[in-house]
Amino acid sequence: MKVKCVICDNIETIPDDSPTAKKLRNRPIHTFMCQSCYGRIEERTNDRLNTGNFIFRKPLNKEKEW
Ligand SMILES: [Zn+2]
Repeated sequence: MKVKCVICDNIETIPDDSPTAKKLRNRPIHTFMCQSCYGRIEERTNDRLNTGNFIFRKPLNKEKEW
């Protein structure tokens, strides 16, 4: 299936039977991030974690569900 990255609007094709595809099918509101954006955000999160100023909150996914 084709999915659009919420950050850069890049269209990616993911396998129909992948866990991500299943998640998106069950919950169309679920946001998709392409690998490069995901990597970028992960990097940034790690940076913040390293500075010690960022308190890691677990329900990170919940915030994206609007
Ligand atoms: Zn992207």
